[in-house]
Amino acid sequence: MTIRIGQGYDVHAIADGLPMWLGGIQIPSDKGFVAHSDGDVAIHALCDALLGAAALGDIGLHFPDNSSEWKGADSKRLLARVIKMLSADGWKVGNADITIALQAPKLRPHIDAMRSVLAPILGVNVDAVSVKATTTERLGFVGRGEGCEVWAVVTILKD
Ligand code: MG
Repeated sequence: MTIRIGQGYDVHAIADGLPMWLGGIQIPSDKGFVAHSDGDVAIHALCDALLGAAALGDIGLHFPDNSSEWKGADSKRLLARVIKMLSADGWKVGNADITIALQAPKLRPHIDAMRSVLAPILGVNVDAVSVKATTTERLGFVGRGEGCEVWAVVTILKD
């Protein structure tokens, strides 16, 4: 069995009046993420971790932000596409661990919903998907509420 690790990172700016999609679900908020797609910064970091583990490039290579196909796209579609690419190379997901840095709103009530949405797309049990949330104690651009920052780490497996 071959095991690979991948890590991904993404940032999106926050603006008023946009829907806040994060971890595959919509978070109740009067602010959201500025993006070409739905702005789901957690899924974008996760896609980059998966692509990184398989050495298949990055999300910008496969889903260019000038492409009309991905304008306003549900990022779950991007994630499903990435999983399909990995499957074609014989890779299965082992686990995923995601850390979201966001000052507000509090994400704790939404964590399990994110895990439940992401796990079937990744093809793993929900106990193989970890989503953690933190603030940055009001420091930096995250702390000022200007953006959201996400790190993702995954393992992928091949027999
Ligand atoms: Mg992004």
